[in-house]
Amino acid sequence: AERDRLGTASGPGRTADGHPVKLLLNIGSVADLQAGVAAEGVGLFRTEFLFLDRRTAPTHEEQTSAYAAVLHAFPGAQVVLRTLDAGTDKPLPFLGLADEINPALGVRGLRVSRRQPDVLDAQLDAIAEAAAGSDASPWVMAPMVTTPGEAADFARRARSRGLANVGAMVEVPAAALHARRLLDEVDFLSIGTNDLSQYTFAADRQHGDLADLLDSWQPALLYLIAQCAEAGRAVGKPVGVCGEAAADPLLATVLVGLGVTSLSMSARSVPAVRDALARHSLAQCRHNAELALAARDPDEARRAVREGW
Ligand code: PEP
Ligand code: MG
Repeated sequence: AERDRLGTASGPGRTADGHPVKLLLNIGSVADLQAGVAAEGVGLFRTEFLFLDRRTAPTHEEQTSAYAAVLHAFPGAQVVLRTLDAGTDKPLPFLGLADEINPALGVRGLRVSRRQPDVLDAQLDAIAEAAAGSDASPWVMAPMVTTPGEAADFARRARSRGLANVGAMVEVPAAALHARRLLDEVDFLSIGTNDLSQYTFAADRQHGDLADLLDSWQPALLYLIAQCAEAGRAVGKPVGVCGEAAADPLLATVLVGLGVTSLSMSARSVPAVRDALARHSLAQCRHNAELALAARDPDEARRAVREGW
């Protein structure tokens, strides 16, 4: 038993029967890496956290050194840098974005590049340079991608700089509904369940009174995740989850059963998720996924899956 326990305390994520599931870190700074040695890489580097209070644009050198520090911490591993996810709710003062009445539905995430394409281009330049001359191979992805056309535009900009692993976050229902078309343009998808819940259930993600709608076990949310995972499976491209849903150990078995290939979370959640996967075979994960999808509501989904635990 002791060996079993130690066996799942570190090492790569696997189901009981050896199906690999990458366990990755969500970070907002280089400092966040210190607690994360047990993970296999970085699934979500929220680069905007580096520059939240900046009134002037970060220089090329500042960006390059911040990205290089993270890339060098995981040589040869998957490190996913998300390009700036700014909006009037998460302002980057140097962007000078206009106040909006409805910021969650406004110019945020990748949409900022409509008016300020140079900010995105400068960031992609810095990422490409941070990787140059090392064996790091950064993955880059854009937040709030809504259409295949946006994914194509982002991919073109990234690839023209030699960046080879280009992805889109799925945070908007339109993107989930057309996951297959997005995957015609990019190499991977990463599902941001925090925003995908907000936009699917039309419920502000900070709104305490609506927490039941924002529950990650909502069958309609799981249904959208299933569509994305199935699209990835059909074309052989990775589809991960990097929102809060990935940090719930029991739900992690459901996500793996739906076909998700990686789970990204804060460092403190990794051991429990690794342990939950190690206790379930892929067939059990698939069974859990069927139970959760068939449930009427989040509580029923949780109960059905927990009974088989
Ligand atoms: C998400 O929306 O689920 C996500 C991972 O991005 P953020 O929480 O930074 O909006
Ligand atoms: Mg988000």
